[in-house]
Amino acid sequence: MRKVKIGVLIALCAGALAAYAWAGQAQVATAAPDPKQVEDLVYANRILADQDVLDGFGHVSARDVKDPSRFLMARSMAPGVVTRGDILEYNSEGEPIDARGRAVYSERYIHAAIYRARPDVMAIVHSHSPEVIPFTVTGTALHPVYHMSAFLGSGAPIFEIRDAAGMTDMLVRDNKLGDALAKSLGNSAVVLMRGHGYVAVGNAVPQVVFRAIYTQINARLQAQAAQLGAVKFLSPEESAKASVSIDAVVSRPWELWKARVGKIE
Ligand code: MN
Repeated sequence: MRKVKIGVLIALCAGALAAYAWAGQAQVATAAPDPKQVEDLVYANRILADQDVLDGFGHVSARDVKDPSRFLMARSMAPGVVTRGDILEYNSEGEPIDARGRAVYSERYIHAAIYRARPDVMAIVHSHSPEVIPFTVTGTALHPVYHMSAFLGSGAPIFEIRDAAGMTDMLVRDNKLGDALAKSLGNSAVVLMRGHGYVAVGNAVPQVVFRAIYTQINARLQAQAAQLGAVKFLSPEESAKASVSIDAVVSRPWELWKARVGKIE
């Protein structure tokens, strides 16, 4: 009888140990990125490619909702073909937590530095949009032409990499350059990068996608308007008011853009 009881006790202990081990595994599983956030990020990649804001280059990231010191971004690949399995987690220094041998973007420090400098920023896009490039090299500032790009406020600042590091290959390849870029961004929504592209920041993935797309449209419209004559831009006060109105309806184009790219993997 006693032997049976000991046997039962041993079985119970083994069961408890197995349950403990399982709970440990479950804890690892819950540390995986939030599935909804991963889905939003995959859509963001596909949408920005569909809207010609990103081509084979550029990237979009989101601050990790489970660990705000980290961020999520694809492995090094063309945004238009990103799937859920391509999204990696990066630490606050821009290094992948577990890339499993996969290549990562050399300019990941853009994202790391801005997340460090701007606690309010939850998502970031980096683009080489050809329509925006002229505004990075001419001294003609990018200002909001209409209400949709009111987030440009009193004009996008420009990051001059030469001031930060002299002669480079133009890429933000380390945290020092990332910090200099974040300093140029300041409290703005968009910073242009001389001879390179731009970075848009936002409070969520849909908002940053919206801003990246409308930065490009604004550049096109501003160039067209300038050919017709002197341009009257939104004033800072109009920009502030319009930003509030437009921010409230960002989900409308987001759903349209998602529908355009269709099902994701
Ligand atoms: Mn770049």
